Amino acid sequence: MTYRLDAQLAAAYERYAAKRPHSQALFDQACRVLPGGSTRSVLDFSPFSFRVARAEGSRLVDVDGHEYVDFLGDYSAGLLGHDPGPVAAAVHAALDRGWSFGATHVDEIRLAELVCQRYPSIDQVRFTNSGTEANLMALQLARHCTGRDRIAVFDGAYHGGLLYFGHGGEALQAPFDYLRLPYNDLHGVCAALDDTVDDVAALIVEPMMGAAGCIPAEPGFLAGLRDACDRTGALLIFDEVMTSRMSAGGVQLRSGVLPDLTTLGKFLAGGMTFGAFGGRADLMAAFDPHRGGELTHGGTFNNNVVTMAGGVAALSELLSADVLDALFVRGEDLRARVATVLERSTLPLSVSGMGSMFTIHSVRGPARSPADLVGADQALKELLFHHLVERGIFLAARGFVAMSLAIGDDDCDVFVDALADSVTTIETAV
Ligand code: PMP
Repeated sequence: MTYRLDAQLAAAYERYAAKRPHSQALFDQACRVLPGGSTRSVLDFSPFSFRVARAEGSRLVDVDGHEYVDFLGDYSAGLLGHDPGPVAAAVHAALDRGWSFGATHVDEIRLAELVCQRYPSIDQVRFTNSGTEANLMALQLARHCTGRDRIAVFDGAYHGGLLYFGHGGEALQAPFDYLRLPYNDLHGVCAALDDTVDDVAALIVEPMMGAAGCIPAEPGFLAGLRDACDRTGALLIFDEVMTSRMSAGGVQLRSGVLPDLTTLGKFLAGGMTFGAFGGRADLMAAFDPHRGGELTHGGTFNNNVVTMAGGVAALSELLSADVLDALFVRGEDLRARVATVLERSTLPLSVSGMGSMFTIHSVRGPARSPADLVGADQALKELLFHHLVERGIFLAARGFVAMSLAIGDDDCDVFVDALADSVTTIETAV
């Protein structure tokens, strides 16, 4: 199907740029010292990204004074919204006590206890500075513990800047020997794994593929992976960097399927820099010199006081099981309303996701694996994004939404209305 989308998109760029002279000037300035004008590629979009001046509750305000309802929630790190008082208070109090100790302190024990209590597979945990680092550590730990080399991953998966298995990810991939598997295809997984000579150290999986398009594992898939790992001796790693929000104990608590190792990141330290990997005590013992562990785990900022204090406040004061369960339901509701709008449209649009995270796709769907999204209409996706931004809704340019606790029912209504209006406007102009 051919649409007259290019002209619509060019017009949308023009309207966008005309209203944002300050962001445009800052983009030009930034490009002189930051490649592409930013330091996190996923934040870039055309013609240039607006620059945020301040944030409050569920709102972002850019340097040109435009206000947006923030449905991106910093790709999940902003789960608490923009002004969670208890986190701010804990961070300020921590700074009052001083930082850069170069020594152990109390908050790291409290945060570790809170994480271990929540995630059923985590007996012991180590902190890192990002989800990427957590995944790299978990993979190397698995290779060390099993004495095996290969890493089984899913096509299209994203486990961090150095562990991206989608289109264009190869150049920066950490150089492991990978076995690539098809998501939500247990037969394919088993055939590939059984074909190996038991040389796979770990199988790493997102219980819902995040960056690939919010594609949830289908019923039975995770349990099937657990069996396949038990059969072949590979360790099962759940990358719950994204999905840890799906309940107090992530998808592992929801599904009852327990991995050997789990990685975490994003919102768990209340929006401060965070990553963690943890799991079975016998595996984590590799980092314990008192139990004969041979591995060292470096990281100047692993126990930085801001993150540790923010994490303790977030987990002990804000993120109860009830709060996370309610957010899950709110997300399921909103996704159902979004699906209704998209199903009514003549455009090839669909939505997939779980709980408070979803992605709007420019294919008819359903999206069961990244392969189902190969033919997505990029111009349509971008145009829809621009229409939503024009209506004061911020989400990822790729159509991704991660709802925060600050998003209320009114915000959801605004989102659905803006989406319906955007879709109709595009349809009418085609
Ligand atoms: N794993 C998953 C599933 C992710 O979505 C991300 C980040 N989007 C990461 C790992 C990497 O986390 P970080 O950006 O903190 O390195």
